[in-house]
Amino acid sequence: MTLMNGKEYIDSLRELELHVYFMGEKITRVVNEPMFTPHIHTAAMTYELAHDPQYQDIMTATSHLTGDTINRFTHVHHSIDDLVKKIRMMRLLGQKTGTCFQRCVGLDGLNALYIITYEMDQHNGTNYHENFKKFLTYVQQNDLMSAGAMTDPRGDRSLRPSQQKNPNVYLRITEKNDEGIIVNGSKAHITGAINSHEIIVMPTRAMTEGDKDYAVSFATPVTTKGIKFIFSRQTNDSRRLQSPLDAGNPKYAIVGGEAIIIFKDVFIPWERVFMAGEHDFAGNLVETFAGFHRSNYGGCKVGLADVVIGASHWVADAHGVAKVSHIVDKLTEMISMAETCWSCSLACSYEGSKTTSGAYNISPLLANVTKLNITRLVYEWMRLAQDIAGGKIITLPSEKDILNPEIRDVIQECFTGKEGVDVNDIFKMLRLVENMSVGAGLPEAMHGAGSPAAQKIMIARRSGIDKKRELAEKITGIKKDDSFENIVGMPENEYWKKTSNR
Ligand code: SF4
Ligand code: FE
Repeated sequence: MTLMNGKEYIDSLRELELHVYFMGEKITRVVNEPMFTPHIHTAAMTYELAHDPQYQDIMTATSHLTGDTINRFTHVHHSIDDLVKKIRMMRLLGQKTGTCFQRCVGLDGLNALYIITYEMDQHNGTNYHENFKKFLTYVQQNDLMSAGAMTDPRGDRSLRPSQQKNPNVYLRITEKNDEGIIVNGSKAHITGAINSHEIIVMPTRAMTEGDKDYAVSFATPVTTKGIKFIFSRQTNDSRRLQSPLDAGNPKYAIVGGEAIIIFKDVFIPWERVFMAGEHDFAGNLVETFAGFHRSNYGGCKVGLADVVIGASHWVADAHGVAKVSHIVDKLTEMISMAETCWSCSLACSYEGSKTTSGAYNISPLLANVTKLNITRLVYEWMRLAQDIAGGKIITLPSEKDILNPEIRDVIQECFTGKEGVDVNDIFKMLRLVENMSVGAGLPEAMHGAGSPAAQKIMIARRSGIDKKRELAEKITGIKKDDSFENIVGMPENEYWKKTSNR
């Protein structure tokens, strides 16, 4: 059994030889690559905190498969308490890093596949759940980070996967044989892909019979032959190479380190396959995964809110306005919105339920409500952070200018706050607010775990509108209301006749 710390996680990546394309170069070793280092440090925090005695209750769990103590990022939730601790873990990590710590997508993939492979086997007599449990045990025992790969590029979105002119816009099975399957295609926007150990692939949407080659799920090491990564450009990323101050959050990532993963004739042995043509379960897997991931956002993004609220208060205080009423009002607004999202995520967990597999799922309706709130409220609290920080966040010169002896003094004069505050600290805090409120974290809040339209579809589908109609019908007397009849001791129509004769 392994419970890696942050340094051991980084060392475990050193051994891996990948094919990563970034800024016109091919990179095979991701550790020590300056542009990747902050992403790796961020994911390393998910390992490091598991060794901190004050966080062990949140960061570790007991494996239901082996009884061993494992990192909670490899755990399949088996109680409401597990679901609640998961969301507490996410807020904690957001607070510690101020960014996306990447490891949750794999965690959600593990949980969704545990539930759906069980249901598939019950329905079809297949053996996917046993395959999956073996993989899960391997992940838990080696404390691995898995990238969850769901989204396909999707080409012409008015067409189904099998109708696309270019079949590679959806990942698909191109061959099945006695040993396993061969897949081709790609996955897009995959968080933490280049600094994971494994990739967990899942279908991107519900599938029909004609799309069954696209109903595919499996796990494979990041080093598998035929897999290549293209790492994304991120807001102000090259500042990292120029100056820690200019980077804003120099130790940790800008966002989740998203990458495209290309699969060219990739062989997957049957023991690593969790779905291969069961098109009628593809939609369930997508929904279950998306529910888990959407429920997270009131944890991780609220952890980020805690950081940006703290930074906003710090900046206001450094300029002598922390007690001015409109600043207090804005900070209070930010706190209220963040805690609303936190309440949503907690509610997802507390309203969770046991599935037939024995694992626990969150409340899917509340998970979608949580994420829909995030697509709006993160922008609102970041807008207020910019409002409080003032124009200085867009005027602050580069560190090179700040250090230039010819202009250093005048820059310091322009940015000095109240007496006793080191102007160098003001520089740092302004850059942090800029990093968090302007960077790629905003579109991530919009599109991560699916765009708002996807959440609205699920909310509409799960809202129980018929039950709500019935409530109105009973109150107006359109439908029979047994409780009312019991209260008045007679059928409702008789009651109305009697009272209208009065
Ligand atoms: Fe985890 Fe949040 Fe990043 Fe998704 S956006 S991987 S839930 S930190
Ligand atoms: Fe995300």
